[in-house]
Amino acid sequence: MKLQTYDELLHSKYRLTMMFFLFLNIVSSLFVLLNTSYAFSSTMLLPTLLIPGLSFALFLWIFFRPKVKLSLLNSAALITGILWAWHISLKHALVFYFNGSYLPLSLLSVFFISAIALNDNLPAFCLHTAPGALTVLLLDNGHNLAMILSTILLPLSGFTLHHFLRRRSDDFTRRLMFQLYEEKQTYSDLSMLDPLTGLYNRRGLKNRLENVLENHTGSHFVLLLDIDHFKAYNDNYGHAMGDQALARVSVAIRDAVRSRDIVTRYGGEEFLVLLTNVNASIAMKLAERIRQYVLNLEIPHRFNERVATHVTISAGVAPLYDDDFEQALAHADRALYVAKNRGRNTILCWDDLPKSASAQPADAV
Ligand code: GH3
Ligand code: MG
Ligand code: MG
Repeated sequence: MKLQTYDELLHSKYRLTMMFFLFLNIVSSLFVLLNTSYAFSSTMLLPTLLIPGLSFALFLWIFFRPKVKLSLLNSAALITGILWAWHISLKHALVFYFNGSYLPLSLLSVFFISAIALNDNLPAFCLHTAPGALTVLLLDNGHNLAMILSTILLPLSGFTLHHFLRRRSDDFTRRLMFQLYEEKQTYSDLSMLDPLTGLYNRRGLKNRLENVLENHTGSHFVLLLDIDHFKAYNDNYGHAMGDQALARVSVAIRDAVRSRDIVTRYGGEEFLVLLTNVNASIAMKLAERIRQYVLNLEIPHRFNERVATHVTISAGVAPLYDDDFEQALAHADRALYVAKNRGRNTILCWDDLPKSASAQPADAV
């Protein structure tokens, strides 16, 4: 399984921890069962059979259910801890006459499982060892108090320290991951926008286009717009004024269409608008509105005199058939070419072009 997020990594780590913990419980209890030096009564066998039985069942369940909740580890630790404590008290009744060190040794075996499998998980560690530790303390009656206390307290203090250090580093990593994710998102958003106009660039268009084609089955139109005689504007008013005019025209285009339409700065002074879920007549109305809004800006352009005294725009409109964007773009480009030839400040739809015009190869305007 390929891990995508830090949380998924933590989840898989906890899952492996749990499987390892259950495995150790199975092995230890089987070892006890196979130890034939004591006669087991049927009551004595119960906890020692329940531990591997339950652990094995849970192991299989986790193995086949990878998304299992992590809190299960604490419950499993507590239940097996209680069963081990039960086993210790039953066995203690049998052996205490001839094995005085049974209690500290049995406690060590419970701590051994926790220390290996649960050293990264303090709550589960405590839940697993507490029942056994309390049972041993009660049954021992103070005979091996120092030994039992050191068996409990030394690992517990070590793991507590380890736990807090680990939490600190986990928090730090999580914060770092979040920050990286946010920055990645910001850069990804920025990389889709044109810095001068704030409109989408080609990358942004590609991204949005995929989304539109996947989620909207209605009819869409491609609108290709080009400012008229903009080279002359630049040459006469200067590049800085040219930039200002471009920014204002961008705002006019954005204002003229609906929020769901995708407005792109497609090239230097060329814009592409993807009109989503529209019919031909609305597409033409929106295109016409753009032309009017740009004219209404009344940006003086003396060198556009054959067309108007202000900055104007020409456009080609084409329907998007069969999700074939390239084809629609070529048609819109053809319509734009004809619109330029018809005197500029003009909108033309590819569908309305005479057959001969729509078949011509695209040349410089
Ligand atoms: P037409 O009416 O046929 O479209 O003529 P045009 O002069 O607009 O066409 P042409 O493609 O020859 O010129 C486009 C000009 O747009 C060239 C360049 O000076 C200007 N331009 C392109 N990008 C920018 C930009 O980012 N800033 C500025 N200020 N000018 C730009
Ligand atoms: Mg151009
Ligand atoms: Mg132009």
